[in-house]
Amino acid sequence: MTGGAPTGGAGELVSFDPRDGRELGRYPRHSPADVAAAVAAARRASSGWAGLGHTERRRRLDAWRRLVVRRVPELVQLISAETGKTTADAQLEAVLVVDHLRWAAAHAARVLRRRRVFPGLLMYNHTATVDHHPLGVVGVIGPWNYPAFIPIGPIAHALAAGNTVVFKPSEYTPAVGAWLADTLDEVIGGPRVLEVVFGAGDTGAALCSAGVDKVAFTGSTATGRRVMAACAQGPTPVVLECGGKDAMLVDRDADVAAAADAAVWGGLSNAGQTCVGVERVYVHEAVADRFTALVVETAAALRTGTGPGADFGPMTTPEQPGIVQEHIRDALSRGARALLGGPDSARAGSASVRPVVLTDVPEDALVMTEETFGPVLVINRVAAMEEAVERTNRSVYGLGAAVYSRSAGTRIARQLRVGMVSVNSVLAFSGVPALPFGGTGASGFGRVHGPEGLREFARTQSVTRQRVRPFLQPLSFRRGPRTMDILLRLVRTVRG
Ligand code: NDP
Repeated sequence: MTGGAPTGGAGELVSFDPRDGRELGRYPRHSPADVAAAVAAARRASSGWAGLGHTERRRRLDAWRRLVVRRVPELVQLISAETGKTTADAQLEAVLVVDHLRWAAAHAARVLRRRRVFPGLLMYNHTATVDHHPLGVVGVIGPWNYPAFIPIGPIAHALAAGNTVVFKPSEYTPAVGAWLADTLDEVIGGPRVLEVVFGAGDTGAALCSAGVDKVAFTGSTATGRRVMAACAQGPTPVVLECGGKDAMLVDRDADVAAAADAAVWGGLSNAGQTCVGVERVYVHEAVADRFTALVVETAAALRTGTGPGADFGPMTTPEQPGIVQEHIRDALSRGARALLGGPDSARAGSASVRPVVLTDVPEDALVMTEETFGPVLVINRVAAMEEAVERTNRSVYGLGAAVYSRSAGTRIARQLRVGMVSVNSVLAFSGVPALPFGGTGASGFGRVHGPEGLREFARTQSVTRQRVRPFLQPLSFRRGPRTMDILLRLVRTVRG
């Protein structure tokens, strides 16, 4: 069954279940005026939320987390219904939501507290402090592939840092967006600190131009560019979490069975619709045959579809199977070989895509350069890990990567031009809330999660306070040559 295109009446957004095309709900399509009203409401709520301070905010965010935990089955059901992902994939997403929410609430006070810094020799008579104030209102624009886990990063960190939030969920997943805001509202009472606006790209564009104090965008690189251009007018600062073309590197001394298992799960779970999913594998030729055979054997045994025993579900959006098929065709036309499946594994008009494993794929094929975002794994063999590193770094993307090696995993990881690496596992960095999450190059910039994620949503302010009058005063027109002479001699003596 094709995933439903979210169209309704002119002013309506319809959410469909991609597993059977069933209508799930109708939502308003918010106009620029509606978006401006939501931002104005969030602005009115912002001073009260900021004024609560860290302890009270934590109390409320913890209450939200406990409510989410109590209602995990509800959240799981909604995620599955709007994305088509399996219950197990949706449960994993819900677990991550809870853990990241806890971390942001628990650590905001420590990370963002006022901090004294050493004023230095020249400014010995001052105290110097760094403050982190809330920005005000943060706009969050989210994708459909992890409709709760991905936005909860910027939402939780922005709220914990004392901001209010206006969230624009993907047009494919409005119900999950509404659920997040409504559950928070239930525990907070009073003015809403998380507003939701519904609609397609134009609603997101309106949010970029609505005068928010920062936009946290997660989505494709193409849309990220548009978001950045719109935000340039403000200028409104942006965090861009965009697409990836993540590689797994498998060394000759790797645990080959573990690497193969991880490649299959990292590449094919959630039907391959994971920004940090494994899209290409570079495997050392010494272990390539065994690794490839294990991957093909494991992938061939996976069950796809909508039944309870399925390992992964259908694709969420109706366009994606066509894109996946185009990538497979392009690779085969350039000389690649299909070890499992082929172009017929994905068909435009059918939401289910069966696992595909390709090998000997030229590095300039679409499946190597563009995000495929489907259950397709490429396995290319390399003569040495240096070659694997070089090919990995050739991509314009730089989101995540995985390395399997018993002796050199961390050393190889450090050579990769990506934002995050898991050694001897896949996607592990996503599950560590203290680790900043984000990429480089076409994968974007800025970070969510971890201390960097909290600081991303704070305005840093540096303050000096003169404690005593200085022995020398160079910051005055009354300074004479003698003052500057002493200062220069001092610098020569202590810094020369
Ligand atoms: P899109 O770029 O299509 O959309 C992302 C969000 O932006 C959606 O809410 C979308 O609205 C909205 N949007 C569309 N046009 C505009 C615009 N002009 N101005 C402002 N907002 C706009 O991405 P997808 O939803 O298809 O998500 C998949 C992509 O997200 C993949 O590339 C994936 O790699 C990436 N991603 C990156 C992650 C990361 O952390 N780096 C994590 C997860 C996904 P609507 O959907 O309603 O059109």
